[in-house]
Amino acid sequence: MTFQLVSDAQNEMFQSLPVSACLVEREASYMAANSSYAALFNASPENLVGKAVADFMLPEVVSKIHADFQAFDDGAAAASDEVVLLGRHFFVSINPIRRSGQSVAALATLTDISSLKKKIVELATSNQELRTANARIKALAETDALTGLTNRRGFERFLNTEMRRCRRQGKPISLALVDIDHFKLFNDRYGHIMGDATLKDVGTAMLGAIRRPGDCAARYGGEEFVVVLPDTDLSDAEHVCRNIQEAVARIAITNEASPFGRLTVSIGIAGVATISRDHDWTEVRDLLLQSADAALYHVKASGRNGVKVWHDENMRIG
Ligand code: GH3
Ligand code: MG
Ligand code: MG
Repeated sequence: MTFQLVSDAQNEMFQSLPVSACLVEREASYMAANSSYAALFNASPENLVGKAVADFMLPEVVSKIHADFQAFDDGAAAASDEVVLLGRHFFVSINPIRRSGQSVAALATLTDISSLKKKIVELATSNQELRTANARIKALAETDALTGLTNRRGFERFLNTEMRRCRRQGKPISLALVDIDHFKLFNDRYGHIMGDATLKDVGTAMLGAIRRPGDCAARYGGEEFVVVLPDTDLSDAEHVCRNIQEAVARIAITNEASPFGRLTVSIGIAGVATISRDHDWTEVRDLLLQSADAALYHVKASGRNGVKVWHDENMRIG
């Protein structure tokens, strides 16, 4: 042993440290320990002095001590680790004590971080719960309460994202407005509750008719729905919309107030092959909506229960 704890004052200080501390020799045996450290092993400090660390700690701790001394010899200033003793977590800091350039011993201090660890776990858990709740709130904020479809706000966000993506990737995008025919008469005849249930059924039928996960069917407002079909040209969009029309026909809701005798929809479609980079995409978006609306108006004016693709040589989109 090349040095000793010389004074009572120093020993007193060592014993009073607010952490568990011990001095370990290169051979991994205890030179000294404070009572807080010894208490971890149900021992007194005197019991530990001269004993091998291996008598109290797992073999990997002993290996770590040897590795730490090696690192100190190579110039490392300190080492740290985490250990679990008696079910408690300790942060271990190991600092070399050097004599003539040689690390002759190491002072190990063990700080109990169990409550900190518990807090971290609690924080991570509540963070996760918050994230889940946030995601649920966000989804709810973009969901139509009656039909369960995306609502107007969700539709706008979706359309904005997809317009930009399709422009970036040089892809087409189509959009369709789906409006229930004579729905006012339906409500008048069958009542609002039946009207609400029918809106739900039409929403479900629409969802069943759009097959690609990248498509979006939303409630635009009232008895009007909107379908966004990214990466879809007008002829494919028309095909999807005919499927929607057939899906609504298949649910076969009677509407005696309608000349068709059953619930029908009118659909107006507009689309662009590509959105040029020179174009303001928001203008293209607004034009798409206007054009789909104009096509829908055309179907309504020519008797309803139909699908119309917007074609106007004078009105270029994109
Ligand atoms: P058109 O064929 O020209 O579209 O006629 P329409 O009667 O469907 O259209 P109009 O715009 O005149 O009336 C829409 C009706 O949709 C009026 C309203 O009572 C009904 N409606 C809108 N939102 C809801 C809803 O949330 N629940 C119910 N039950 N009815 C709704
Ligand atoms: Mg209508
Ligand atoms: Mg309408």
